Amino acid sequence: MALKDFAYGDTIHRCFRCGYCKFPVNWMDVNNCPPYARFRMETYSCGGRLWLTRAWLNEQLEWSEHLAEILYSCTTCKNCEIKCPLRFNVDIVNMIVAARSEMVERGRLPKNIKTFLENIELYGNPYGSGRTQRNIWAEDEGIDKYSSHEYLLYVGCAGSYDIRAQKATKALAGILKKTGVSFGILGDEENCDGNEVQKMGETGLFEALARGNIYLFKKFGIQKIIVLSPHAFNTFKNHYPEFGGNFSIFHYTHILYNLIADGMITFTDTFKRKVTYHDPCFLGRWNNEYEIPRNIIKAIPGIEFIEMEKHREGALCCGGGAGNFSIDLLGGGKESPARRRIREAYEAGADVLATACPKCLIMLDNAVKEEGFENRLVVRDISEIVLDACK
Ligand code: SF4
Ligand code: SF4
Repeated sequence: MALKDFAYGDTIHRCFRCGYCKFPVNWMDVNNCPPYARFRMETYSCGGRLWLTRAWLNEQLEWSEHLAEILYSCTTCKNCEIKCPLRFNVDIVNMIVAARSEMVERGRLPKNIKTFLENIELYGNPYGSGRTQRNIWAEDEGIDKYSSHEYLLYVGCAGSYDIRAQKATKALAGILKKTGVSFGILGDEENCDGNEVQKMGETGLFEALARGNIYLFKKFGIQKIIVLSPHAFNTFKNHYPEFGGNFSIFHYTHILYNLIADGMITFTDTFKRKVTYHDPCFLGRWNNEYEIPRNIIKAIPGIEFIEMEKHREGALCCGGGAGNFSIDLLGGGKESPARRRIREAYEAGADVLATACPKCLIMLDNAVKEEGFENRLVVRDISEIVLDACK
């Protein structure tokens, strides 16, 4: 495909590489585009990536593994869309995803991206683990398979397979059981939601996943879905309706908030911690949900809530979006976004860094160890905090 045939061929040239897209909303530094923060090279910034895409589609630059990795290092965090002053800002992530689709079309993907996508196609998860292992976390938890329950609890790949994320899944399931919420899971019939697949530009595989999941949800008569991951929340809410999938989607924090408001969850005042909150991009910038997670934390009597300097729409992404929680093109260094975020939480004076996303949880929990901060800061999902603090 030539630039003139590219869906954004007549707009991509409008980026004049001013660099505003690297800043957070409060302009405190230039490090809010995660790949730029990690590598400090213009080619890894939003503007650099758009210029490289244009040069590649104009045949001024040949494809290389390195070029593809630069394109795939974007976590689709949307910081650039908030900060870019031009009207084309609403399409920046779409442009990057469209360029990735072109790489998929041409069969020119880096090996780790290819493996990630093949694993999802073959096994329904990016880890390449067997489908029957999806349900292992639920053994001995006494959780029903979905039948005629009010809610489906859609766990997702990270919450099902990753050992750290499983703890958050179990905490959430434990609270739902304790408070009498009627819910069931799909167990080993659950499949990947496809949010990362779509962001990686594999539109054919995404459509197959979406249609398969919608068929399954309708077959079970499911109408209300609680999701653990903001990534699943985003794709079920914003993309599945295109394929006829119209369900009521609740991020789990919505459910916990209502249970607290209804007096179904009450707290002791013995959970005395200084807690800050990391906004997951797919809950915050993608779906404008900033208040409910904070309100849950603030409802716990012993907690002193602290904001980091970069918060809400100015938050620094953990680096895990668009599959990077698994392929981790931004990891392996002191300036990885997750390690930067850990330092920001610590400098804010927190001893607990809370989040509400299994992918953020994995990234930040690993970063605490890499940073050597195990004795200074713990990373907890909000479901874990609520379970620890409730009566
Ligand atoms: S994307 Fe927007 S903010 Fe970023 S360099 Fe280009 S014009 Fe500037
Ligand atoms: S979406 Fe995030 S990672 Fe991607 S270019 Fe924009 S700021 Fe950078």
